[in-house]
Amino acid sequence: MDKSELLFEEAQKVMPGGVNSPVRAFRAVNMAPRFIARADGAYEYDEDGKKYIDYVCSWGPMILGHNHPVIREAVEKAVKDGLSFGAPTRREVEIAELMVDLVPNIQEVRMVNSGTEAVMSAIRLARGVTGRDKILKFHGCYHGHSDCLLVSAGSSALAGGHPSSAGVPVDIVKHTLTAQYNDMGGVEALFAEYPDQIACVIVEPVAANMGVVLPKEGFLQGLRKLCDQYGALLIFDEVITGFRLCLGGAQAYYGVKADLTTFGKIIGGGMPVGAYCGSREVMEQVAPCGPVYQAGTLSGNPVAMAAGLAQSTYLRDHPEVYTDSGEKGKWLAEAMRAAAKRHNVPVTVNQVESLLSPFFTGQAVEDLPGAQTSDLKRYAAYFAGMLQRGVALAPAQFEAMFVSAAHTREQLEATAQAADEVFASL
Ligand SMILES: *Cc1c(COP(=O)(O)O)cnc(C)c1O
Repeated sequence: MDKSELLFEEAQKVMPGGVNSPVRAFRAVNMAPRFIARADGAYEYDEDGKKYIDYVCSWGPMILGHNHPVIREAVEKAVKDGLSFGAPTRREVEIAELMVDLVPNIQEVRMVNSGTEAVMSAIRLARGVTGRDKILKFHGCYHGHSDCLLVSAGSSALAGGHPSSAGVPVDIVKHTLTAQYNDMGGVEALFAEYPDQIACVIVEPVAANMGVVLPKEGFLQGLRKLCDQYGALLIFDEVITGFRLCLGGAQAYYGVKADLTTFGKIIGGGMPVGAYCGSREVMEQVAPCGPVYQAGTLSGNPVAMAAGLAQSTYLRDHPEVYTDSGEKGKWLAEAMRAAAKRHNVPVTVNQVESLLSPFFTGQAVEDLPGAQTSDLKRYAAYFAGMLQRGVALAPAQFEAMFVSAAHTREQLEATAQAADEVFASL
């Protein structure tokens, strides 16, 4: 047994599944997870010192690669001044100003501690502002683990959903309506059924939690139009796409305006941070200005703000990060398609900028049922083969692959070579 396997045995005695977040347990690929000791640039090193080219990137935050000196120094500097005050600090103002500057359609920012918290609060705000209870989400989009968002399809498309987790009351998710991603007809039908009851539509503008699934031409615009027509708010959950597709996130990338935007992952630079943002009018419905309550003891934590501010400022000052990592994403997607073709493995690679995922299916993947045509056994074999060759991918098919600014041409070529060998063996 190696050190990761030994640690995993210990971990399972004192932590559910041995982990603090389920996907890390590697159950979808039937292996013991690697315990990571440290990471630098595009590499991470496990407890045995084995090195991997990392395409998980902490599930997105590490867009500059691991252990970036600019962020590390900002954090070290902040630590010297104290870890937490529970009082306003200068950096909170600076990061909010930066976000308002860079992201279209936001005038005010509320910082929280995770993406889950950001989305949960944005939904409360949308309900508070509209005085309506129902929300509409899409199958395969993940918005964190708050109760009202843990739903699977109802028995009829027009009924509320079923809880997808034990411990979630049916009474809570009965207000959550669901439609298929990219299916305007489904959304129209729900609005027609509940014209004055839907508080908000929440969407990942690029879905990245069923693997990467791109919005079809006109889909996001169509949601905007329906929300306007029926007086609902449109929430873009940009926890992954924010500061990833480009500085302005999906709103800038696709030219569609959201009423509320949620962030997480990248804006914390690797520290636990989330945020929800919108127009002044909407955001001033939040306490202490308005009747929608939301608070947080550690929200806007000075060390977390230092990391987020350093990374966001660096991104603003280095636009080549986006052109470079976007080109790398495209190159990798094409290399994987070519390798799959060479070895006759049916693979569909979806990619936008530095986000991509290969699905082991011959079909186009435009929604959750499409993603579910993927051969999961094949994904597990591919994952294991890549890991053995020193490439760390997401340990589940329905996740994204993240390319960072730190990935070099050589590392990409090594990844493509590994994929070629693994596809040959499938
Ligand atoms: C990761 C994620 C969340 C949840 O963020 P946490 O920080 O894990 O709570 C919400 N929405 C999207 C789109 C995500 O990818």
